[in-house]
Amino acid sequence: MPDTTPRAAPGRSAGEGFMAELNRDKEHRDKSSSLKPLQRLWPFMAKYPARIALFLFFLIVAAILGLALPSAGRLLVDCGFGENAAAFAYCKQFALGDPGKISSYFRLAIVLAVLVGLTSALRFYHVSVLGQRVITDLRKAVYDHLLNLSPVFFERVRTGEVLSRLTTDTTLIETVIGSSISFALRSIATTIGAVILMFFVSWKLSLMVIAIGPVVILPAIFLGRRMQRLSRDSQDRLADASARAGESLGAIQTVQAFTREAKERVSFADTAEGTFNANRSRLRVRSFMTAFIFSAGLVAMIFIFWYGASEVSKGSITAGEILQFSMLAFFAVSGAGFLTETWAEFLRAAGAAERLVELLDEKPSIAAPTDPLPIGRAQGLVRFEDVSFSYPGRPDDVVLQNINLTVAPGETVALVGPSGAGKSTIFQLLLRFYDPDTGALTLDGTAYQRLAPQALRRQFAIVQQATPLFSGSALENIRYGRVDAEDAEVIQAAKAAYADDFIQRLPDGYDTDLGERATTLSGGQRQRVAIARAILRDAPVLLLDEATSALDAESERAVQKAFAEISQDRTTLVIAHRLATVLSADRIIVMDEGRIVEEGTHTELITQGGLYARLAKLQFEQDAVIREAAAE
Ligand code: ATP
Repeated sequence: MPDTTPRAAPGRSAGEGFMAELNRDKEHRDKSSSLKPLQRLWPFMAKYPARIALFLFFLIVAAILGLALPSAGRLLVDCGFGENAAAFAYCKQFALGDPGKISSYFRLAIVLAVLVGLTSALRFYHVSVLGQRVITDLRKAVYDHLLNLSPVFFERVRTGEVLSRLTTDTTLIETVIGSSISFALRSIATTIGAVILMFFVSWKLSLMVIAIGPVVILPAIFLGRRMQRLSRDSQDRLADASARAGESLGAIQTVQAFTREAKERVSFADTAEGTFNANRSRLRVRSFMTAFIFSAGLVAMIFIFWYGASEVSKGSITAGEILQFSMLAFFAVSGAGFLTETWAEFLRAAGAAERLVELLDEKPSIAAPTDPLPIGRAQGLVRFEDVSFSYPGRPDDVVLQNINLTVAPGETVALVGPSGAGKSTIFQLLLRFYDPDTGALTLDGTAYQRLAPQALRRQFAIVQQATPLFSGSALENIRYGRVDAEDAEVIQAAKAAYADDFIQRLPDGYDTDLGERATTLSGGQRQRVAIARAILRDAPVLLLDEATSALDAESERAVQKAFAEISQDRTTLVIAHRLATVLSADRIIVMDEGRIVEEGTHTELITQGGLYARLAKLQFEQDAVIREAAAE
């Protein structure tokens, strides 16, 4: 089996390696310094022009109506209560009839208020749906892309990190498209509109607001930044705590078997407390900010009213105008405040977009040909021509050296040799998870590079020592081998793999849910389900990598018989440590340190007296010791 567990770099402990990975993820979580990566989201949005147009339309209408509301307020006060001659003159311009008829102004204000509500809701609806649509497309695109990436990528990037990009990062972007863009555009429109209208109402008061505004806004921006740093800090600590908890819960039996619960509890508690402290600091800053903004904002308003009141008594401004002005000033200041808040959200989303785009830009290291040769059911002639290979993660470690191997259609070839000799790597190359550094592989005489990887892999069925199963029923797990198989075919495959008996005995038979990673089954039962799945696949080439290692002697013999039957008309490559299982192979290939060192039938190899003969002798001696011990 290839070793796919994460490795610590030389000279570092596994713990340090884990921390280094967490730090790398943390850097990834940081926000971007520019908004540029958000541009890459445009193609996803551009697919929905009608939705964008509707959103913009309602955005503009809502902004205009919103800005008209203060004017309506002014009409209400000045004309509705009708006490000021100058105001009456103003009202007449709007041909609203007798200013004494208060009802018409109230009716107008009500209509306007309802329209503002309605258009704002429609703006919100269209932009939120757009956000959801784009994010769903993005998630699907990223997942589709991930499914096509080669194992090299997953050796490099932690699955947890990939999942967090698929969920947390897409959610961040969703917030931006679904609400921040809308808020930002609305704030820009209302702030600019409100400032212009404010000057029309009273340039003196406007200048006062412009002078006071920054006194409120600038400290708010400063505090906001500080709060964000603290909030990122608490997020990081939470991510640490979850990563740690995820590792421990994933290996709960190891934790309990080594009685490390107390240690795990303390280390989780430490990180959880760290999150609490970071959050408390953030809440303190937030409370201070709230106190400051409320009091500074309200005091500023009171000052404006104070000044306005003296102007009203002088008759240079009406009470309605003061109301209109304060509403406009409120729109302008809160709009500017919103903008500073959404800016930070934009930067965070840009960081998220950058990470997602990084995934989308990741090229599968296995290049699919542009004009693949069509391939039906292959005969099953596989050939390695002078193949040498090192894993990309360890380029200096040559794992296969000048391998020349031809397996004829229908032939059964066994690969044996010491651990680490490169046997499983042969399978990895056969399935084209990696391309060789030099040399070539062919199927039925066609070079691998000329075939579409998926079409090629369809010609193989593989059973690995620890073949992963999925949550779902036994039936679904076996059917994974061939989705269009009838129930009867599934059951037939299960019978051939000697899995039918134990599946029938499960509480719901074939419909029993096997649980996550099928942990409700024993190792041998899982292996039999995996074998049934491979049998059902009915592919021309069968790859068995220690496929029966978890079975008891009796089931192993039975499954071997089943393999012997199905491998009669298909090419079969078997990796086995127990030499008894390879005795029936047409040919045995002996590998050592990435080379083929011997080749022949069992008898030929024994006569040669090489590595195979030594391995065989050791095993048969062991068996003899066991037999003797049993006899005593
Ligand atoms: P075993 O009988 O123990 O399963 P094997 O003969 O099947 O061994 P391989 O799994 O092919 O051996 O591994 C050959 C060598 O390649 C080993 O030294 C292993 O450490 C290395 N190796 C396997 N997978 C990777 C990987 N993904 N990246 C780097 N090196 C790897």
